[in-house]
Amino acid sequence: MNVLTCAACGSRLTEPLRLLPEVPPRPEYDGLKNPDGSRHAPPTLPRGAYAVDPEPCGAPYVPHPDPEWCGSAHPGDVCIGDPDGPGCLMSAGPRDTWVVHPEDTRGRLSANPAVEEVGCCGRPGREGPNEVCAECGTAVATRYSECYGPYETHFLPDAVRVESVV
Ligand SMILES: [Zn+2]
Ligand SMILES: [Zn+2]
Repeated sequence: MNVLTCAACGSRLTEPLRLLPEVPPRPEYDGLKNPDGSRHAPPTLPRGAYAVDPEPCGAPYVPHPDPEWCGSAHPGDVCIGDPDGPGCLMSAGPRDTWVVHPEDTRGRLSANPAVEEVGCCGRPGREGPNEVCAECGTAVATRYSECYGPYETHFLPDAVRVESVV
């Protein structure tokens, strides 16, 4: 098993995780309330697992070169119309982020005070890394928990290290 640790201060940022060969398919979600009252999609990753996402994820978003294209801004998210043009936006964010179940970071990350997000019930994750290391405050991850997006936490590959634990 491995854990992700903060590259800046060495603090542990996740529960013990096993590496999956790829990000599982994003589950379908009807946007309705979950039994616990939350409104977010089923988690993409099971507890205790992580995977590398080779696709660009999160901010910044840039206009797609094809104005007819209307796909999801990044996998699992919805289509975002370009406020300044005819087409839609796509993620030009970092590739090869480490994806985990958001609950596997509980108590180890804090909300990034530098990021202001407007969501209807969760964290859209569109303004850049919205989670910091709870120990040293370095921005390390983006949490997606809005009802129209995926339910995932993506760690920046340069901000964390992978360490093995017994
Ligand atoms: Zn840290
Ligand atoms: Zn919502």
